[in-house]
Amino acid sequence: MEEALLKIENLKTYFPVKPTMLSKTRYVRAVDDVSLAILPSSTFGVVGESGSGKTTLARAVLKLVPSRGGKVFFHGKNILEMNNKQMLEVRRKMQIVFQDPYNSLHPRKTIEAIIGEGLKIHFRMNGTLIRDRIASVLTQVGLREEHMYRYPHEFSGGQRQRIAFARAMVLDPEFIVLDEPTSALDVSVQAMVLKMLRDIRTRTGLTYLFITHSLSLVDYLADYMAVMYLGEIVELGEKKKIFDHPAHPYTDLLMASNPIPDPNVKREKRLLKGEIPSSIDPPSGCRFHNRCPIAQKICDTEKPELRLISDDHGVRCHFPLTSS
Ligand code: SF4
Repeated sequence: MEEALLKIENLKTYFPVKPTMLSKTRYVRAVDDVSLAILPSSTFGVVGESGSGKTTLARAVLKLVPSRGGKVFFHGKNILEMNNKQMLEVRRKMQIVFQDPYNSLHPRKTIEAIIGEGLKIHFRMNGTLIRDRIASVLTQVGLREEHMYRYPHEFSGGQRQRIAFARAMVLDPEFIVLDEPTSALDVSVQAMVLKMLRDIRTRTGLTYLFITHSLSLVDYLADYMAVMYLGEIVELGEKKKIFDHPAHPYTDLLMASNPIPDPNVKREKRLLKGEIPSSIDPPSGCRFHNRCPIAQKICDTEKPELRLISDDHGVRCHFPLTSS
């Protein structure tokens, strides 16, 4: 088995909630005991509803928010134990592209200044060298050299997201977290940006962690995937296996409520009922039991473990739907 580029073990990221007169400090368990491994040059998709913890996971992996426990190995070294100096080199290799292309670019800086900032910090580059490197990366993301002299407001949402991606790419990273990178874009622009991401990965061998609420986007971009619910991974494995045979009732319902663009594929439409509960006080036993159509008595009290049901297909359920 190929060695993982990034490996997460039992990661826990909790945020304290202000205590009241009647209660002690409680915690939002945004990421609760998450483990997964990402192979080099692959795309790992993490999908879930809002409140599932996927965005916190994206930030915790890059140490942008503090974690209470667990390990994040990059090239076999636990970055959660690294000091600032050690992290500086790792930060160049691990980049992130945020969801909102309107707020993630400084409005008063030119594209040259925005993209070049990292080159100055990490490579101590200046002048012509910086401009040559920026010109090359702008071309790779489908923009032109002269765009570096403009300001963010002169670009559309899709172009801004290309610029945000160029800012990440310019540092020659190995791993990029894509945090809902197309959710603020129109559908037609979304498709072009996704195609660019896929083409660049194929060409460069980059590794992506792709965070999204959309199964269709996971289907388009990912090789492996995890489904998150209330801070936990409930299913993970090869994307094709999970799409062909979803084994967790939550994944199954997400898929049944997901529109399929192909008119030749018929899928019974079933809706996911109810709201995701609070992650301050998650339900006992299986966290999905109050929404699960096949829940049984044991599900109210006994927490299911994430178990392998085939080589690389894990499910957190007492009664998985299939053995894949
Ligand atoms: Fe449903 Fe029980 Fe499986 Fe949870 S453990 S998903 S409640 S069947």
